Amino acid sequence: MKRQRIGILGGTFDPIHFGHLRTALELLETLAMDRMLLIPSGVPPHRQLPAATVRQRLDMIHLALISDSSLQLDARECRKQGTSYSIDTLRELRHRWGEDTALDFCVGTDAFTSMDTWYCWEELVELCNILVVSRPGWRLPDDLGALEIWRDRFTEDSDTLSQNAAGSVLFLALTPMDVSASGIRRLVSEGRSARYLLPEAVWQYIQQHRLYRADTQETSPNQ
Ligand code: ATP
Repeated sequence: MKRQRIGILGGTFDPIHFGHLRTALELLETLAMDRMLLIPSGVPPHRQLPAATVRQRLDMIHLALISDSSLQLDARECRKQGTSYSIDTLRELRHRWGEDTALDFCVGTDAFTSMDTWYCWEELVELCNILVVSRPGWRLPDDLGALEIWRDRFTEDSDTLSQNAAGSVLFLALTPMDVSASGIRRLVSEGRSARYLLPEAVWQYIQQHRLYRADTQETSPNQ
């Protein structure tokens, strides 16, 4: 019987853009996942507070997913007080879905190369597979530092992965999407258009709410 597979794409989504959406959709299709969850962090541990509020980031994800039922928003981290740790979310998902369901935690190359700074990172791979998606402008360093201890779990073979509920690290090259949330915020703060880098409804929302503009940068609290 086919193993149930759940993909998980965590992130700040400040804002959500076509790099997130295309990556999530291609992973869902390539690995024949049963569902793909987008899990925005409430208070991310490794970076500055998002420029948009939690409500605004959730609104933008809702708008982006309105015409696509294949990707699902999971807002659990936004409902929590305090810092969002991926390990806590993965423990919850493992508890919810049981030992036989494959949990595929998806990260871009940029996020992967700093994963050894994440809280309880060594335990992550016991709870899930890690799918590393190539991202334009980023390559894996020859020396992976502490992540070397995962080297014997590395695979480029999705058949191997499909047998495992957790424990593998798979590298995948998908359609390269050279889009980043920071690039979008920079464009907007310079008074330029971010149209066609993200869904039109999200772009309209950014303009209506005057997000990421140089003159409103100081004013958005993270709630
Ligand atoms: P920022 O530029 O603010 O750092 P971001 O564009 O990287 O944001 P995040 O929400 O931080 O977006 O990313 C969430 C996850 O999605 C990360 O694992 C990241 O590597 C991955 N990701 C984001 N954009 C892309 C992209 N264009 N291609 C592949 N993966 C991506």
